[in-house]
Amino acid sequence: MANDDKKPAAPSPSFDVIVIGGGPAGYPAAIRAAQNKLSVACIDEWKNRDGTPAFGGTCLNAGCIPSKALLESSELYHRVREEFASHGIKVSGASLDLAQMQKRKAGIVRGMTGGILALFKAAGVTPLQGHGKLLAPGTVEFTAHDGAKRSLSAKQVVLASGSAPIELRSAAFQAPQIVDSWGALDFDAVPKRLAVIGAGVIGLELGSVWRRLGSEVVVLEALPEFLPIADQQLAKEALRHFKKQGLEIRLGAKLTQALVEGDAVHVTYADAKGEQKLTVDRLVVAVGRRPYTQDLFTPESAVQLDERGFIKVDDHCRTGVAGVWAIGDCVRGPMLAHKGKEEGVMVADLIAGLFGETNYKVIPSVIYTSPEISWVGLTEEQVKASGRAYKVGVFPFLASGRAKAMEQASGFAKVLAAQDDDEILGVHIVGPMAGELIAEAVLAMEYSASSEDLQRTIHAHPTLSEAVHEAALNADKRSIDNINR
Ligand code: FAD
Ligand code: AMP
Repeated sequence: MANDDKKPAAPSPSFDVIVIGGGPAGYPAAIRAAQNKLSVACIDEWKNRDGTPAFGGTCLNAGCIPSKALLESSELYHRVREEFASHGIKVSGASLDLAQMQKRKAGIVRGMTGGILALFKAAGVTPLQGHGKLLAPGTVEFTAHDGAKRSLSAKQVVLASGSAPIELRSAAFQAPQIVDSWGALDFDAVPKRLAVIGAGVIGLELGSVWRRLGSEVVVLEALPEFLPIADQQLAKEALRHFKKQGLEIRLGAKLTQALVEGDAVHVTYADAKGEQKLTVDRLVVAVGRRPYTQDLFTPESAVQLDERGFIKVDDHCRTGVAGVWAIGDCVRGPMLAHKGKEEGVMVADLIAGLFGETNYKVIPSVIYTSPEISWVGLTEEQVKASGRAYKVGVFPFLASGRAKAMEQASGFAKVLAAQDDDEILGVHIVGPMAGELIAEAVLAMEYSASSEDLQRTIHAHPTLSEAVHEAALNADKRSIDNINR
């Protein structure tokens, strides 16, 4: 020990770039920075419920990936029971093995999060599992999970600390009865009666999972309008299908209190008729997420938060403090994994002196319900409000041979284009594989395509993508496979 005292202090490890946060914003930033020949460390503190640390953040551990795994499994369960007979496939005795469904989900998550470590290794990124804190520009304190602290230095620091679920004072989390979205992905039994607060993207996806597996689901939404962020023609069509599936969505219903009594939750909410009551077995609070920046930086670092708690950044994710950047859910803009990834790549390229840009006007949104919902660009309501003259083309999946073959011939594709120069202003899809189909529209809009460009592009037959082609044709009343209106 005495000898140790005489040793000079170990020099603090130094990197070109340190990324704090290893979610879908942070880990791509680290990989791209390494591809740009910079020395990089990525610090992440995520621990799963069993205590194992894992990269991937909310998205891989508790969000996008586990929710899609359960949406896929529950959809298959639903189809085997409700749809296979119409294909002429008789199945008897199909039953639910929820433990296996959850095991499959956990396996996918484990594989994907472990994959990030493999990507880091291949790219030469140093993974550090524990807490990162920006002490001052260029200096980061790293606290490993065992409590050991180290000071690190870096020319550039990227903050990618993500977000956390919003908790309501009137319905504080109290697992297992009152849970957030992560809790709702981990139920080990199908609740008989389930209430979901919030008919946003997450609430609708989780409500769909448990409805398909047999729960009676009531979704309470404070706003009077359904999915106000989406094109309202799309929202109306989706609502009609959700109702048919037995998802009970009560609009203009604001939760005021939730009380746990034994294994039940007594929910009180207010609607136009006054106070209402509901008793359920489980309550999921899915009222949105807030930026998470706890213990992320010191006041001396001079990083600023805005009035809603997001780290202040410009269009290129610069915080205004030299050498400090912030990306993903902890900064303004839609809380989406692909938005964070694009920002991560942009920042890593800018740091390396390369070109980098995020086109915030062309970020796709997808809701993975059945039917799926997707869009990019402006809604019809937004185009109307802008005052620009426009044309609309719609094509129903009812007229799509592929959708019929899939027994999923519902919903439509809709293309909005400017009347003057035919520029595509927005594309909205509700129907089978809408989340995949939107990619073509994103690419078209990224290249400032016109609806004529889409019209003149050959689409394979019979595919679902023909619906987008025909919707573009319909914008000029030139649809072949549908009556032009
Ligand atoms: P996060 O994924 O939250 O990652 C941040 C990471 O930083 C975490 O691991 C955190 O532990 C770590 N961290 C924070 N502070 C520190 C610190 N000081 N030191 C070290 N580490 C720290 N988006 C989509 O695009 N598509 C979807 O289908 C989708 N589905 C979703 C479903 C659900 C149920 C939920 C909850 C979210 C979903 N999202 C979806 C949103 C998506 O998960 C987020 O937009 C995305 O995870 C944000 O990425 P991020 O890297 O900014 O933050
Ligand atoms: P999102 O932000 O897309 O996750 O959606 C969250 C939804 O929850 C929004 O549509 C909110 O209007 C809704 N919401 C927020 N607070 C309440 C509440 N107390 N009762 C019912 N709905 C709520």
